[in-house]
Amino acid sequence: MPEYPMSPLAGQMMDQPLLISSIIAFAARHYGDSEIVSRRVEGDIHRYTYRDCERRARKLADALEHLGIRMGDRVATLAWNGYRHMELYYGVSGSGAVLHTINPRLHPEQIAYIVNHAEDQILFFDLTFLPAIEIMARSCKTVKRYVALCGREHMPRETSIPALLCYEELVEGGSEDYAWPEFDERSAASLCYTSGTTGNPKGALYSHRSTVLHAYASAMPNALNVSAADVVLPVVPMFHVNAWGLPYSVPLSGAKMVYPGAALDGKSLYELFEQEGVSFSAGVPTVWLGLINYVLENDLRFSTFRRTVIGGSSCPPAMMDTLIDRLRVQVVHAWGMTEMSPLGTACTLMGKHLQQPPEAQRAVLRKQGHAIYGVDMKIVDDDGAELPWDGATSGHLLVKGPWVVSGYFRGEGGEVLQDGWFPTGDVATIDPDGYLAITDRSKDVIKSGGEWIGSIDLENVAMAHPAVLQAACIAVPHPKWAERPLLVVVRRPGMELRREDLLAFFEGKVAKWWIPDDVVFADSLPVGGTGKIQKNKLREAYQQHRLPSA
Ligand code: ADP
Repeated sequence: MPEYPMSPLAGQMMDQPLLISSIIAFAARHYGDSEIVSRRVEGDIHRYTYRDCERRARKLADALEHLGIRMGDRVATLAWNGYRHMELYYGVSGSGAVLHTINPRLHPEQIAYIVNHAEDQILFFDLTFLPAIEIMARSCKTVKRYVALCGREHMPRETSIPALLCYEELVEGGSEDYAWPEFDERSAASLCYTSGTTGNPKGALYSHRSTVLHAYASAMPNALNVSAADVVLPVVPMFHVNAWGLPYSVPLSGAKMVYPGAALDGKSLYELFEQEGVSFSAGVPTVWLGLINYVLENDLRFSTFRRTVIGGSSCPPAMMDTLIDRLRVQVVHAWGMTEMSPLGTACTLMGKHLQQPPEAQRAVLRKQGHAIYGVDMKIVDDDGAELPWDGATSGHLLVKGPWVVSGYFRGEGGEVLQDGWFPTGDVATIDPDGYLAITDRSKDVIKSGGEWIGSIDLENVAMAHPAVLQAACIAVPHPKWAERPLLVVVRRPGMELRREDLLAFFEGKVAKWWIPDDVVFADSLPVGGTGKIQKNKLREAYQQHRLPSA
């Protein structure tokens, strides 16, 4: 990392390190009565306040110290969104140890790989994952203690896990007198592995400084716009890039927090939204699909839900239109990645857009959005030369900023930066106003006769057809064009749709040579651990598909 020169005249402001513990300490002191409401794995609803959360996080930090956890040690979680997970966010990082949130939807072998690579010392888990842990425990070489996130009454009676600890007893045993330690803000705070669709997962190691700066920036009006008047329900899991930073940005804003636990189906979410007066939420497109269908099928309305962030993969325009026009929920389309903590851009309008007709505003809102302060971005050609921001030229997207990785944990993947910029692996355009539009992931781009076809645009058209529930567009080999697009479609239940009709639906909506060569219908699409459609699996499945044009 670069060393910067110091001016002979130092500024005279207090040199207070930006530490994660300061967020919960602030919330406890200044928004002490604001609530954290959680649907527990045990089935009931739990409620308490930021004041309670901070006190228990300190007790937890003290208990961790007694278990021998020291600064820099990794402490893992396999847990849903809930208050105990939030206590771990603060108790572990606040004590100087490193919180390693693991995606429980990964294959057990992959989880064991990650645990060993991170050298996790303790693993905290929700009871849902007990069977998986029992299988994995023998392969997790570095884990000394396992802790079940429950009270004594719910502890498993019989388990193969040796000396299993009970979370509530652990917290109970910690001292209330524990004071948050102060240390260098560049210390590691938390660790998150990328899903590793190609090769082994790689770890992004966040610092206290990067996390606090990301929390400030992401709460701003141009980004997630979180305020003390909000009630926020992160559907995005706390193991998916720290629930996009919400467990940090929500307490620093003083908003009420609502955690959905393991119940992520449309009905459970809708009920919690209504019961707790949720005003703001965040999640990947696939989760909104379930919630929107439940609300529309049952002819329901949201009474308090006004705004949601959608990211992680492209938000289909049809989904955005349904949320805005039918359900009166404003959509903030956002883009980011694990390597960016994760927020890079968010799509909110500028003053000049407000004078424009609604369709023009909607066209802006469909893009992935504007960089938030702290993130710089550029697009380059294959030789690394910067490309113009004309909204049409697409190129490889590179980013930099204080919450972007400089390399992966334990040097995995070697040197990753290119002249100080992080290559995102995404292909994008940037318009003259600075709005980013993602065309594709570079590995998903379809290369037809030397030209790129953006699969996201094709999926967006297909998703606008009333009989299409889900669509994914992939490249399949073609003797003349090298690759051509194949559309894989899940029909809406009970609706008819023929291949020819869907292909005709594309006419006039995209360039003629972009229209997919063929359509196949499937019962479902493969979805990965973070709710994204796994195009690599689709490509494998349809590798031999013979296009009519071939
Ligand atoms: P993984 O998918 O490997 O688990 P991430 O969750 O970090 O890792 O995914 C980051 C990637 O997700 C980005 O590089 C981009 O390709 C994609 N992505 C994220 N948000 C969007 C969006 N709004 N539109 C299109 N693609 C997105």
